[in-house]
Amino acid sequence: MRRIIITIDGHSSTGKSTVAKQLAAELGYIYVDSGAMYRSVTLYTKENGLMVDHVLDKDGLLQALPEIKINFQWENGVNKTLLNHRDVSELIRSMEISEAVSKVATLPEVRAKMVDIQRSFGAKGGVVMDGRDIGSVVFPMAELKIFMTASAQVRAQRRHAELLASGQQVSFDAVLDNLQSRDTVDSQRSVSPLIVPEGAIVIDNSEMNSHDQFNMILQLAKDRIYGRV
Ligand code: C5P
Repeated sequence: MRRIIITIDGHSSTGKSTVAKQLAAELGYIYVDSGAMYRSVTLYTKENGLMVDHVLDKDGLLQALPEIKINFQWENGVNKTLLNHRDVSELIRSMEISEAVSKVATLPEVRAKMVDIQRSFGAKGGVVMDGRDIGSVVFPMAELKIFMTASAQVRAQRRHAELLASGQQVSFDAVLDNLQSRDTVDSQRSVSPLIVPEGAIVIDNSEMNSHDQFNMILQLAKDRIYGRV
């Protein structure tokens, strides 16, 4: 059976990773969270004194880049992110990292390294990858490209609930601000900006439940796997 590449791009907190994980599990594909890679590089800069008070030491980071190893471990359906062999899956989800990541993700050298790693994961097909530039830059020839969006209010409500559930006390306004500023930086950067990739199917899930959304994307995937499209 054909093992295709599925890309899921879109705005922050639109539920890309949830649906990407479900799809990968259903199809027996690997799931790659490309945002986790940019978040891991950001954590590295914070932990190594390369970002202090929101000021990034760009030259320092570029020098350290060869030392930064990012990998994933798939265990019992759980996807762990490893930064230099250490599990950082939880640490990279903090608001502190969310607030700094777009700055790191604008650097072309960082992006080039991440894109190389991402392409290596997709070399044999059978991958679902989510992010901002996956359908436009990483896998422009992907068989199925999805672009997800939703209103900023709805996205902030969902993200706020998730953060509270994980024990992080943050205000709704701080979450909304962060989403909107990340969308702006991600969409306006000169290298690999967030765009609707050519050929992508756009889904606005502001008023769609996750079950219906999953079934819809699964159907689109099966149509391509079985050559019906
Ligand atoms: O997907 P997530 O929200 O975890 O991504 C965090 C940040 O990483 C994004 O706001 C964006 O700045 C950056 N990113 C990117 N390209 C990707 C994935 C994420 O620039 N493919």
